[in-house]
Amino acid sequence: MSKKPWKEHLEDIKPYQPGKPIEEVKRELGLEDVVKLASNENPLGPPPGVVEAINGAAGSVNRYPDGGCFYLRRALSEKLSLPEENFVFGNGSDEVIVLALHAFVDPGDEVVVADPTFQIYHIASMVKQARLSVVPLKGLKYDMDGMLKAVTEKTKVVFIANPDNPTGSYVTARQMERFLKEVPEQVLVFIDEAYYEFAEGDDYPETLKMLEDENRNIVIARTFSKAYSLAGLRIGYGMARKKVSEVLNKVREPFNVNSVAQAAALAALKDTEHLRKSVGLVRAEKERFYEAFSSMGVDYAPSRTNFILVKTRRDSVKVYKYLLKRGLIVREMTPWRLGGYIRVNIGLPAENDRFFELFAEALKEIPEQK
Ligand code: PMP
Repeated sequence: MSKKPWKEHLEDIKPYQPGKPIEEVKRELGLEDVVKLASNENPLGPPPGVVEAINGAAGSVNRYPDGGCFYLRRALSEKLSLPEENFVFGNGSDEVIVLALHAFVDPGDEVVVADPTFQIYHIASMVKQARLSVVPLKGLKYDMDGMLKAVTEKTKVVFIANPDNPTGSYVTARQMERFLKEVPEQVLVFIDEAYYEFAEGDDYPETLKMLEDENRNIVIARTFSKAYSLAGLRIGYGMARKKVSEVLNKVREPFNVNSVAQAAALAALKDTEHLRKSVGLVRAEKERFYEAFSSMGVDYAPSRTNFILVKTRRDSVKVYKYLLKRGLIVREMTPWRLGGYIRVNIGLPAENDRFFELFAEALKEIPEQK
């Protein structure tokens, strides 16, 4: 057999499987009315000011974007009281994950990841030929002691999704502080705060102040995809001390964030009312989900995000297909090795009602498994 011309190790990598797009389900099942609660998107859609900004930017797409995201960088710097030089922007926060691996990891280096968690950490690390040190969750939460024990002198990066996807659980301020105190200085701790806006408060860690420590290598990643409702435009950012953001910017493509996304993100940042509404909707509707699950007698993982992991006690592929056939897309969790679970994100009240109704039906139709 002849040797393949591409890198051999890519053969072992399974591509990321996103939630099914609405248009695809309409097309494949001949449905007109489809609700998607599968990709943790903001169901309110972008506010008018953002649409206006997008339209305004559309006329200049013959020009290359500002590779440095000048205005957005300045706005975020003011909002977060963090110097402009500490930011790196990405084509979604997904790209910030990839940039960190590019800048820190050589083939054979170790990367510590939880399991299950956001799959891009595993996939992107495997692309870099890193050796994965996989730490199972404990009771559907990050095992921070286990993560610490997994760190060796070969460890270059530790990924922490906080809050986590798909469980919605979070690492507390105390746990995070303890972890950062113990972890060796040379290790890059990548704290992924994609759901920050939903999680803020109580004992959720305020990680920005941790960037002041010049001896620590920390990247905090956030996104405009969730609370700010710009998933389709792909824009996120990382924050790190100056030297670390400098190296991340070195491995970034010069025009990785498009001009329409930059304009939209700037407008989204200004619309604090839309953000308040988005977070408020999730908080209020989440309570309805908890009540519905309790009354249906199914277990769920309490969530600090805009989605909930649910144990169906059924064949979850069957549950998923039952809902899909009726125009409701959720996420089936077998690819995360969470067979029996589905993940559903919080939609508009009417969309959620539809989910409650169909999910209750599915639980009746599909036999319970011991
Ligand atoms: N991190 C986590 C934990 C996520 O769940 C997601 C989106 N599903 C991302 C990062 C990536 O988000 P984006 O690339 O849209 O910013």
